[in-house]
Amino acid sequence: MKELIREVITRSIVDHKGNWSDSLADRYFDEPLVNFAAGDDPIFEEFKQIIGPWHRTPKEAYEAMHGEGIWRGGTVVSWAMPWSKALRDSNRRCTDKPSIEWTKAYDLCAKVLQKEVRRGLLQEMERHGVQGVAPADAEWFRIMDAPDGKTSPWSDRHVAYAAGLGTFGLNSAFLSAKGMTIVLNSVVIDAVLAPDQHTAEHHRADCLHFKTGACGACIRRCPAQAVSTGGHDKVRCMIFGYGPDSVRLAKERGVEGPAGCALCQVGVPCEARNPAGCK
Ligand code: SF4
Ligand code: SF4
Repeated sequence: MKELIREVITRSIVDHKGNWSDSLADRYFDEPLVNFAAGDDPIFEEFKQIIGPWHRTPKEAYEAMHGEGIWRGGTVVSWAMPWSKALRDSNRRCTDKPSIEWTKAYDLCAKVLQKEVRRGLLQEMERHGVQGVAPADAEWFRIMDAPDGKTSPWSDRHVAYAAGLGTFGLNSAFLSAKGMTIVLNSVVIDAVLAPDQHTAEHHRADCLHFKTGACGACIRRCPAQAVSTGGHDKVRCMIFGYGPDSVRLAKERGVEGPAGCALCQVGVPCEARNPAGCK
């Protein structure tokens, strides 16, 4: 079953007709990393303390879709979709605004690709008698205001941590074996599969700033001064990457929605690898 899941996700991404850029002469996204977390891992209860009581456990997410009391255990499938080298190159060349290609890749993810991969996987699961839910597509999912920026009832970054895909960087981005230039996604299914372990010493174990006290390259890459040794200013980051100026920039590029950013995720030691060498 795990191999089938990996194959379905990989095929949906690599073969997706939108996953191609003529200007890059390459795909936007490469083959994903796919990991599994136990649906009843106690870490999901801990997220209610770390993120907030509104964050749902896999059981809560599943039962909201299929009925109260129906959960008999299951698995969270979490995957990281790495940017292609050509896409990374395009954004690395930029210093004050994201590349046109990243704006288009971001838009593809936000509107089409992510949703279709989730839907395709759940449809394939159903063919094998497995039910599931895509929290990001659930009627209860929404982006909410929080004192330090935005939050939601399902965090793909925290889910990826639970599935052992990596840890968090100084800039709050997720640091996987393929680095920070990834897009995360996840679904909950009711098949109980062997989980991957989250073995990191702590949630920032792979970031060089927290490992050695050095680096800070993401601080220097951010044009909005949203990263410092004190951490990541989510509000400043949101305004720069997703606010009105960003929407105007995207419109000039023929895209309806924000232009995105991710400048702090390229031209840094953790761009496409885990710099701590743990994975
Ligand atoms: S650039 Fe350096 S400090 Fe920033 S997240 Fe990556 S490893 Fe950590
Ligand atoms: S995404 Fe952009 S604005 Fe946000 S921290 Fe990174 S470089 Fe700064």
